[in-house]
Amino acid sequence: MRNSASVAIIGGGIIGTSLGYNLANVGVGNVVILDKSKAGAGSTSASLGGFRYQFSSELSIKLSQRSVGIIEKFEQLTGYDPLVRRDGYLFIASTETSFGQLKKNRDLQRALGVPVELLSREELQGRYGFYKFDEFLGGTFCQEDGHASTMAVFQGYVSRAKQLGVELNENTEVRAVERNHGRFLLKTSRGSILADSVVIAAGAYSGLIGKQFNVDISIKPYPRKILITNSFSDGIPPQIPLIVDVDSTFAFGREGKGLIFANNQPTASSFELVFPPDYDDNVIKTAFRRVPATERCSLSSPDAGLYELTPDSNPIVCEIPNVKGLYCCSGFAGHGFMHAPAIGELMAELIMKGKTSLDISSYSIDRFEKGLTDKEGLII
Ligand SMILES: Cc1cc2nc3c(=O)[nH]c(=O)nc-3n(C[C@H](O)[C@H](O)[C@H](O)COP(=O)(O)OP(=O)(O)OC[C@H]3O[C@@H](n4cnc5c(N)ncnc54)[C@H](O)[C@@H]3O)c2cc1C
Repeated sequence: MRNSASVAIIGGGIIGTSLGYNLANVGVGNVVILDKSKAGAGSTSASLGGFRYQFSSELSIKLSQRSVGIIEKFEQLTGYDPLVRRDGYLFIASTETSFGQLKKNRDLQRALGVPVELLSREELQGRYGFYKFDEFLGGTFCQEDGHASTMAVFQGYVSRAKQLGVELNENTEVRAVERNHGRFLLKTSRGSILADSVVIAAGAYSGLIGKQFNVDISIKPYPRKILITNSFSDGIPPQIPLIVDVDSTFAFGREGKGLIFANNQPTASSFELVFPPDYDDNVIKTAFRRVPATERCSLSSPDAGLYELTPDSNPIVCEIPNVKGLYCCSGFAGHGFMHAPAIGELMAELIMKGKTSLDISSYSIDRFEKGLTDKEGLII
């Protein structure tokens, strides 16, 4: 392992590796990534690769637009085919309030050029006969939303970053830090490294890393589980949108030839992947009620991992005030994969030039003490 770096990135998930690639790609030398276990084995390994333009805030939508633009040319950039599928996302609402919010989101999305349709209950039922929409008022659908392979994108970033000279150190846990003439001396499980700049990109662990720097980074871990079935059709087409009930948070879609069911009901913050004892039962019962054919499917192994959440469900992406050279790039909730391509570029700009080509100042850490938070309303 090198003993000095221009930029040391703590965390080798999709965010840290996208940043490593982007820094090296604009000519920054001596970039080092440190990961306490195997790179990509954190939340990134749980990501289902979903991407969507349907968000409630302008910045989230713009980040998706920029990221998907990069994913579309990803094979040219890295040699890795991201295996894009445009199955769409469908958000459905059962109350006037939530349907009103979906309509508001749709207006914002369309104003930003996203082709989102508003569908009545009858239109929904006509299009997706396998799902029972009786209790819903309607929904919004975007055919341009879809999925890509998280692992292909992750590997693309890792492999291209290494070719460009980035050093990736696995099994290298950052345990403590000291200041050394304005630089950062990171003490790791494999020795020390002196860095001009440090980026905390440790996902759900970023709050813990913040403590090492005496900085309060309000990112907490929340366990999240998705049930996956074995290969199943029985009247359910091979390509369906991810259908998300914004009121109950029940999500239903496809993963390969199987199906996925999940909900995003609040759980206690924990680094352990523990779930309420009735979690599976509740999700399965909802699946049976909404999609009766699922009574005949069988479950395969679930997908589980940690969501990394800030109090307003938006990430913290900024230089830390009063700690020159220390940056945070974390807290992406359920959309870190889809925003990693754009965020990697923007964070590299911030480190190199002190400014970004897209205004991400609303993601600064001091928004919490200034009371300038604006909760992202579409977290799934
Ligand atoms: C079940 C599930 C499904 C999801 N599906 C999607 C989806 O469809 N689309 C989407 O966009 N997003 C999805 N997400 C969210 C997405 O996976 C995350 O937002 C994203 O992976 C976060 O990436 P990261 O690099 O910030 O964190 P991570 O991948 O967790 O990487 C952080 C790294 O930091 C390392 N680290 C921690 N502490 C230290 C230390 N002290 N020293 C050194 N290294 C350290 C860890 O080992 C880890 O590898 C999903 C998440 C879950 C849990």
